[in-house]
Amino acid sequence: MNNGILFVLSAPSGGGKSTILKRVMADLPGLVFSVSHTTRPPRPGEEDGRDYHFVSLHDFLDIRSSGESGFLEWAEVHGNLYGTSRKEVERHLGSGLDVILDIDVQGARQVQENFSPVSIFIAPPSIEELESRLRKRGTENEKDLEVRLENAKKELSCSGRYDYLIVNDELQEAVDSLRSIIIAERCRGRRTPAGYPAEQEF
Ligand code: ADP
Ligand code: 5GP
Repeated sequence: MNNGILFVLSAPSGGGKSTILKRVMADLPGLVFSVSHTTRPPRPGEEDGRDYHFVSLHDFLDIRSSGESGFLEWAEVHGNLYGTSRKEVERHLGSGLDVILDIDVQGARQVQENFSPVSIFIAPPSIEELESRLRKRGTENEKDLEVRLENAKKELSCSGRYDYLIVNDELQEAVDSLRSIIIAERCRGRRTPAGYPAEQEF
């Protein structure tokens, strides 16, 4: 389906995906964040169409049942449904842009089985630090937080299935690592760090 590179990024909830990705995208052109559909309600500060397409269960199931024109992958995560729009991803890749999917380990497995993504797993330095970051973020109630921590242990055991591992201890170091991986993959595909085709003929 493509010209651009498909990147898959996974981490347990609170692992730092959104924080790292925001910083990387701020100064790396040619990279598009795929906005997922979810039945989860928005958190304070989240915007429909920017962070997620927030949809009802009915609408989600409707898209899911439309087969090829629906989701590229979907999964139930922490009790909510999440899915990636196939059309949106294909449109961006087709126009030469790189696309990054922030998806869970189940979704990543589906994409790895059907496409050839570059996959990156972000791990926290420890479960204790993950819990502390989630508590400080303060976006989940106690029950949801416990579900996320329990799932985190299972998710961490899947990190070996990814091409790259980034341990998000020092934030700037993790940001530099993700940026470097994206640039290296572009150079591997004979493109410049900014994502344009390398112009010289050899
Ligand atoms: P995710 O998107 O994977 O759920 P977030 O990006 O929301 O995770 O990060 C979870 C919390 O941890 C946020 O409050 C964020 O500011 C904080 N955080 C992320 N990376 C670090 C880091 N390296 N050191 C300290 N705090 C961090
Ligand atoms: P959150 O509710 O914290 O935003 O995300 C919870 C989990 O759902 C994270 O692991 C995130 O990567 C994952 N997620 C977000 N969008 C998608 C998606 O489209 N598909 C799948 N499979 N997982 C997603």
